[in-house]
Amino acid sequence: MNKKTFLRLDSPVQYVKGIGPRRAGYLEKIGVQTVQDLIRLVPRRYVDYSTVSKIRDIRLDQEASVIGKIQLAEARRTRNRVSLINAVLHDSTGSIVLKWFNRPDLKHKFKPGDWLLVSGKVTFYQRPQFVNPLYEMIAEQETVQNKQGSVIPIYPLTEGLSNWNIRRAVRTALGQCREEIIETLPRSLIDKNGLLPLDRALQCLHFPVSTEETAAARNRLVYDEFFFFELTLARRKAQLQNRPGITFRATGALTKRFVEQLPFTLTHSQTDAIEKIVSDMARPQPMNRLLQGDVGSGKTVVALYAILVALENDYQAVLMAPTEILAEQHSIVLREMLARIGVEPYLLTGSVKGKEHAAIVAKIASGEARLVLGTHALLEQEIIFHRLGLVTVDEQHRFGVMQRAALVSKGINPDFLVISATPIPRTLALTLYGDLDLSIIKEKPPQRGEVVTKIVGEKDRASTYGFIRSILARGHQAFIICPIIERSETMELRSVEEVTDEICAAFPEFKVGVIHGRLDTASRIEIMNGYRLGKTSILVATTVIEVGVDIPNATVMLIFHPERFGLAQLHQLRGRIGRGDQRSYCFLVVNRYLQPETYERISFFEKNNDGFALAQKDIRLRGPGEVLGKRQHGLPDIAIGDLEYDRELLDRARDDAFALMEEDPSMNRPEHAAIRLQLDNLAHRAELLRIG
Ligand code: ADP
Ligand code: MG
Repeated sequence: MNKKTFLRLDSPVQYVKGIGPRRAGYLEKIGVQTVQDLIRLVPRRYVDYSTVSKIRDIRLDQEASVIGKIQLAEARRTRNRVSLINAVLHDSTGSIVLKWFNRPDLKHKFKPGDWLLVSGKVTFYQRPQFVNPLYEMIAEQETVQNKQGSVIPIYPLTEGLSNWNIRRAVRTALGQCREEIIETLPRSLIDKNGLLPLDRALQCLHFPVSTEETAAARNRLVYDEFFFFELTLARRKAQLQNRPGITFRATGALTKRFVEQLPFTLTHSQTDAIEKIVSDMARPQPMNRLLQGDVGSGKTVVALYAILVALENDYQAVLMAPTEILAEQHSIVLREMLARIGVEPYLLTGSVKGKEHAAIVAKIASGEARLVLGTHALLEQEIIFHRLGLVTVDEQHRFGVMQRAALVSKGINPDFLVISATPIPRTLALTLYGDLDLSIIKEKPPQRGEVVTKIVGEKDRASTYGFIRSILARGHQAFIICPIIERSETMELRSVEEVTDEICAAFPEFKVGVIHGRLDTASRIEIMNGYRLGKTSILVATTVIEVGVDIPNATVMLIFHPERFGLAQLHQLRGRIGRGDQRSYCFLVVNRYLQPETYERISFFEKNNDGFALAQKDIRLRGPGEVLGKRQHGLPDIAIGDLEYDRELLDRARDDAFALMEEDPSMNRPEHAAIRLQLDNLAHRAELLRIG
């Protein structure tokens, strides 16, 4: 027998005929390492060849797909300096013009003789044309309808590998390993949800004969992905629930006076969240709760309340922040808020050194330090708590699963409260943080000034600066945000360096501070405090000020290159203003060569001030991993499913997974053997991800 027939699912993909080490390298870039990965590679889209027309037959103003050969391709600029790619495509029946505006990236893409599949709307300008059509480069072999059917998968693009290469490799791999594919779901779930069996789904994924088959295949794989994701969460939740926790009793000794001396009344949302948290803390199981709320909704006070409940019960509490700037801010703000009730917060960060450090560590160990604020410096081994009862983590998306475990190991299963910086809608939160209980603060404190957001062009700079000057003149402060620190010849981005010079020249009558991640912590804190106290009026910054910073007197923000930031991140940035009762202004400076979709995204942000809606859109555009930080969470990536589009499937998968975990928590039943295997694989992968 030929050696090549010993291909197995876990073989490296380079052993598939026609791949080899070099092409395997390209495949690795899209996450394909083994034969198994290859046969689970989901096509980006499909082209239905039964809808491909001859050029002769296309009609004006109708959608059409054609296949042809490039005859001529050139790049130039239009009279108003927009880049234009102009090409002519021909088939045996005629030719048509292709135009792409504003796509300088396509400049060297097409050569005469290349085969292209093009779809779009047919328009007319001197002759029939496609403007900005969708296109696929295809191999000559793909220009004819193939035997399998008329629906052709188009795989994710890889440099150095054509769609044809991938199709051939998938055919070989699936042909040789099909027997080895193990069904992961029990019959009952397949039937209940009307899914295809796994091996059939994979066949239909790559070699469909109709678009219905591709949809059924995708459904099956999306369900799988969601189901195992939810099952992992269900298992984690069950594990957390099973540990003995602390039963706190809210005595009111501290909390009552705390609420009385606040300069404002709590909102209904805040009171509701507090009630939930207190009743969680009163249960014998450990609390694992996520507190969500839009920026500026007042989450800190809620966390403080929980902290005081722990203190009332003679336990210690920790409030962790993702950066030293934030920990420092907490220390300033909380010291003031808690002074009147006799609670002193202790701050421990990486910059606390020597004797001071030793003294605080000793106080934590003796229990004298009841409330400890800090950063991940609190996770170090040498720090031992006397009686740790509650861990609150602020702005958690920077925190990892490992860190959570490290902290939890410092107490006897302390209660755990996570405060989220990126608010996401309830259903989505339940899905992604299914192992945590959820509280949402819906309303913002009253009498908040509105935030007006406006897109401006570089050409509007003088008038925008003039406007900012009038606001500064009233005693308010401004943030100026840049995407990079240093001047860069290659990047064409405005930098902190360049902008600082410009701002100093434009606003000679005001003091300017500069802050970015390359300054040491002590200077950063000093600059932040200078700004907080109003010693500087303008702060030129990178996104180091993104989360949590609370300076109500800052009422203007100008963001250069907003297209460089995700929507959730932009919202965090904008959340730094509008924290007082004054109206605030956020300017987004864009240049005019933005891609239409990018402009659309920025203008969605301009029109929308709801953090939940923005996060949802951001997750849809960039995926949950990018927005919420999958590496930090150790969350498996959701690669195939779409949290919006597949919502119904997601809800079903979630219900099924949690029900199954209830029914057979250790997955011991024979029909669940494959599930157990798959869960172990995923846990193993997650572990690797965490270590890596
Ligand atoms: P975030 O939810 O973004 O973390 P904070 O907890 O920092 O928001 O609160 C933002 C600001 O609102 C703080 O200055 C805080 O003192 C104030 N604040 C909190 N709750 C209320 C309330 N109920 N009424 C008025 N102001 C409040
Ligand atoms: Mg906060």
